Amino acid sequence: MTSAVRPRLLIVHQMPTQFIRALERVFDLDYKDTSTRFTHEQILSRIRANPPDAMLFPGQTKIDKEILATAGDKLKMLATFSVGFDHIDLKECKKRGIAIGYTPGVLTDGVADLAIALLLATSRRVVEAMKAVRNGQWGQSSDIMWMCGKPLVNSTVGIVGLGQIGLAIARRLQPFSIQRILYSGTREKQFDSENDKRMFQFVEFNELLRQSDFVIIACALNDQTRHMFNKQAFEQMKNDAIVINIARGGIINQEALYDALKTGQIQAAGLDVTTPEPLPTDHPLLSLENCTIFPHIGSADVNARHQMAQLCVDNLLNFFSGKPMVHELKTDSA
Ligand code: NAP
Repeated sequence: MTSAVRPRLLIVHQMPTQFIRALERVFDLDYKDTSTRFTHEQILSRIRANPPDAMLFPGQTKIDKEILATAGDKLKMLATFSVGFDHIDLKECKKRGIAIGYTPGVLTDGVADLAIALLLATSRRVVEAMKAVRNGQWGQSSDIMWMCGKPLVNSTVGIVGLGQIGLAIARRLQPFSIQRILYSGTREKQFDSENDKRMFQFVEFNELLRQSDFVIIACALNDQTRHMFNKQAFEQMKNDAIVINIARGGIINQEALYDALKTGQIQAAGLDVTTPEPLPTDHPLLSLENCTIFPHIGSADVNARHQMAQLCVDNLLNFFSGKPMVHELKTDSA
């Protein structure tokens, strides 16, 4: 391929060198080897300066009408370094005939591991306990219930969205001797083993809220799930329920969550995702001891990130050599 016909690729996050080397064999890269996050305005100005044929970006980069219009007809493909796609204006991509590659599957285990870490950190008050050690509170209380948390054994776990990640979380929870798993979603799943048929029960969302001791949010963010966890939802939950969100911040109405946590409507929450991200350090949720917040690190395991990067590279190389992508997002329903 001569340099005149090489497609131009704009990369808006930092990547290990081996992936950059693989891409620069085929693309003219617009890449800055810096860990500083690019703002929306900076991305727009890079597009204006060098209109790309393709863009590679993480799930935190909003690909809206303005970005797509600025890139114009030259832009043929988007490669998102994520399994979620609510940051992309799918309708606009469909209208403009822009193909989208994404990275499902390879981060399932990493996110499911993190969900368990977040659930246990929240239910066993790990962050609070660590703070108590640092503040010299260890040994100060004679209360036998000091730093007690909520046990998983014999509990009912509700999973909203039993997709790849939801199921991987469920599998990890079973050895904790939980009693049963309720799940809600768009359709009931089929299970082969008798054990699974006994353990998993498809229920309506409100029923899941009423019966669960732990509620885990693992569904996609879409028009139906946005702010699904609102005041009415929290009011239906048990007062000692714990809610864990590893999906997307927009599924929870955060004002309603704050009130529910503050008034004891529910016991605690663990969030890997918030609105906005990053959450401002003076956000009310950060003032609550019963709210554990992680900085969206669900897929931050070395294997997952390498596999995601490789999928992005393969999606890009395949698309520009006329082959099917490894994982192409269908925009038909957009
Ligand atoms: P997936 O296999 O496509 O599962 C998506 C799930 O969303 C499905 O179970 C689906 O339910 C459910 N869903 C869709 N619309 C729904 C609705 N209206 N009500 C209830 N459930 C609904 O995707 P995945 O790989 O498991 O990922 C799930 C989500 O996790 C992603 O969309 C992403 O936002 C998030 N995520 C977070 C991180 C992180 O770092 N924290 C990393 C990766 C992904 P049905 O099966 O019943 O249709």
